[in-house]
Amino acid sequence: MPDRRGKCLCGAVRIAATETTNEVGACHCKMCRRWGGGPFMEIDCGNSVSFEGHENVHVYESSDWAERGFCEKCGTHLFYRLKKTGHYSVPVGLFEDDKNLVFAHQVFIDEKPSFYDFSNDTHDMTGPELIAKFLNS
Ligand SMILES: [Zn+2]
Ligand SMILES: [Zn+2]
Repeated sequence: MPDRRGKCLCGAVRIAATETTNEVGACHCKMCRRWGGGPFMEIDCGNSVSFEGHENVHVYESSDWAERGFCEKCGTHLFYRLKKTGHYSVPVGLFEDDKNLVFAHQVFIDEKPSFYDFSNDTHDMTGPELIAKFLNS
């Protein structure tokens, strides 16, 4: 599995992830789009994420099951984290190396607004399909 390193816009927070994938996912849910202004494009990093510059990371509890982190200095979005498992999704744009990445899946496709479409061939799931998969895992 690729080892990935990245940082926020101002450099106050550095991130390292050791259990990543080459697959990029997008979430079109209303919360992600409100958070970032557009779909959340992320890499699944499991529990392998560590930070330098912890004191600059602010964590916002966005729902009963998840929280979102950002840099207090520059506002860069750092992660979406599931509370129960500590599982991280990290914005793909933080990482230095984007070679070999494949845009592989999209979730909450049913909440995607009609004004944009990605042309990539991806595996797509609706919100209810994703929640059902999550509850069964
Ligand atoms: Zn920053
Ligand atoms: Zn979302």
